Amino acid sequence: MTQVETVRGPVDADSLGVTLMHEHVFILNEEVRVNYPEDYPDGWNEDDQVDSAITKLAELAGRGCRTIVDPTVVGLGRDIHRIRRVADGTELNIIVATGLYTYNDVPFYFTYRLPGLPGSGRADPMTALFVRDIQTGIADTDVKAAFLKCAVDEPGLTPGVERVLRAVCQAHAETGAPITVHTHPRSGTGREVMRVLREEGVDLTKVVLGHSGDTTDLDYLTELADTGCLLGMDRFGLDLITPFDDRVSTVAALCERGYAEQLVLSHDASCYIDWFPPAVVPQFAPSWHYQHLFDDVLPALRERGVSDDQIDTMLVANPRRYFGG
Ligand SMILES: [Zn+2]
Repeated sequence: MTQVETVRGPVDADSLGVTLMHEHVFILNEEVRVNYPEDYPDGWNEDDQVDSAITKLAELAGRGCRTIVDPTVVGLGRDIHRIRRVADGTELNIIVATGLYTYNDVPFYFTYRLPGLPGSGRADPMTALFVRDIQTGIADTDVKAAFLKCAVDEPGLTPGVERVLRAVCQAHAETGAPITVHTHPRSGTGREVMRVLREEGVDLTKVVLGHSGDTTDLDYLTELADTGCLLGMDRFGLDLITPFDDRVSTVAALCERGYAEQLVLSHDASCYIDWFPPAVVPQFAPSWHYQHLFDDVLPALRERGVSDDQIDTMLVANPRRYFGG
């Protein structure tokens, strides 16, 4: 039986159960938070935020969810100590990632740490950090990342983004860890990602093209799914980008065409995200929370003819296969 690393340690892949494949716990700009804590609503109280996250995850567990997959990496404010406190207070499995989140340049820390420079060796030094997170543990903990994450958004394969993507591929080659790439379907970046993944010899069945559900273009989606990868229909609740009915219809149409085994479902929501003033989120995205899928999306999918078997495939079997079970 394949074991999957979670924040509380390894579990059997078979025990992952209903899995949301793209949910964040905290998305923070840590340097801003540390310097301007008073700009956060009521200031930032670490204990309160951890408690609030535990409450929200308990509600999610109450809907039958067993596991969330959290692709929060450097660039999104990853803090494994904070996540470990949350994991200790929830029955849910939390699976964490390594990688780097940027749409353009690499952080200056990496700008002058290049392959071939003194102290760097021939491989990209970023790759060794990703591998360490997977094989040894994140920061000073023994919590291991179970997958790799990077982003190719509207700007496409900028030099910085391509460097991160290739470092992710090399860490995948070294460790076998699966990959999730944030894509921007409306500019077709899923195709650019697949080209690089093929060049790097990545096992395409171990790849999620995140945010694929932001488009309704079935030709684009089936072209990518036919490579063997998984499509992340993972932004339910972000109706401003793509309306609810379109998101649901797209999943239903793909299921009808036999693609249930290539789809995973999620919200890309978080317990706390500092990208927006908190009062604004319920206004522009009232359904953008962990319960939306269970309360609204699954009933709508069933109404459109998606079977319980297909839902089980998307929520249980595909995540288990992705993590190797
Ligand atoms: Zn995300």
